[in-house]
Amino acid sequence: MKNSRRDLAHPRASPEAVDRLLLTHYGPYRTPPQPHLLDELLYFMLSTRTTTPACDAAFRAFRKRFPRHDRLPDAPVEELAAPLRGVGLAQRRASDIRESWRLLRERFGRVTLAPLRRMAPNEAEAFLVSLPGIGVKVARCFLMFGLHAPVFAVDTHIWRLSQRLGWIADQRGAAPHQKGVDEIQALVPMTDPVSLHVNLIFLGRDFCNARERNCPACPVRAVCPSAVGG
Ligand code: SF4
Repeated sequence: MKNSRRDLAHPRASPEAVDRLLLTHYGPYRTPPQPHLLDELLYFMLSTRTTTPACDAAFRAFRKRFPRHDRLPDAPVEELAAPLRGVGLAQRRASDIRESWRLLRERFGRVTLAPLRRMAPNEAEAFLVSLPGIGVKVARCFLMFGLHAPVFAVDTHIWRLSQRLGWIADQRGAAPHQKGVDEIQALVPMTDPVSLHVNLIFLGRDFCNARERNCPACPVRAVCPSAVGG
């Protein structure tokens, strides 16, 4: 088929080919078949603006101190914030968790996320982003990992790679925005979005970070329009 004007101006790696190459290189990512939904949402709320080790440590400390989710809406914010110092913004995060868990209780009669299993992904996403401290990335991570929904979360690695792979136009340093992340979501295959999401993050960390890229060793160099060297 003849290339369109858009294809010529904006060469693009096939998302399906990238997915296949990454699965060959890194393999699939296995999620638990029955994840604990409240734990999943809590974890992703703590994961923003911090490192994975700090998030893991804060999550473990928080769950040890507060083993019952149904107690969180009535706990003092100061107490909720204490185990969260390591991830920063502890007061704010504690307040958002407390209020979100209170709104879950108000909406569903108890602190639960189970009713989201019966919602369409866009309905569940709209509900989640209406809660304090939950943006589109956290909502889509929860939907992907917790509910195995056909959505695609975009972090800073995936945002950068999507430009280098030609999935979206060069954003000239702009931070991820709704239109761009929706474009990426509409483009990628939904056969196993969790594995593609995790493998793209690995690719960004291992071969194609913000400062330098190692194209000659990169597992997707054969299809990448930005590949240089070797
Ligand atoms: S390292 Fe090079 S080949 Fe690999 S994704 Fe980045 S720009 Fe493309």
